Amino acid sequence: MTCTPECRTPTRSQAHCSACHRTFTAVTWFDIHRIGGRCNDIPGLVEKDGLWATQERHEWNVVMRERLKQIYRQRPT
Ligand SMILES: [Zn+2]
Ligand SMILES: [Zn+2]
Repeated sequence: MTCTPECRTPTRSQAHCSACHRTFTAVTWFDIHRIGGRCNDIPGLVEKDGLWATQERHEWNVVMRERLKQIYRQRPT
């Protein structure tokens, strides 16, 4: 199965399922997702902006993004 333009391209630490086209924020999630050679729903994982992760991880990502924004804003040009 080929990917559509809507597919979220995974980074090196992420994993994309070529069967159901979900992108997971960790390879571990993908491994669990593909247990038994099929696509499994993982309880506790939520989708946000095309990425599947735990709610805590999503919130952490938002915190980190804001923190990085501030760091780059403070940097003299
Ligand atoms: Zn895809
Ligand atoms: Zn899948």
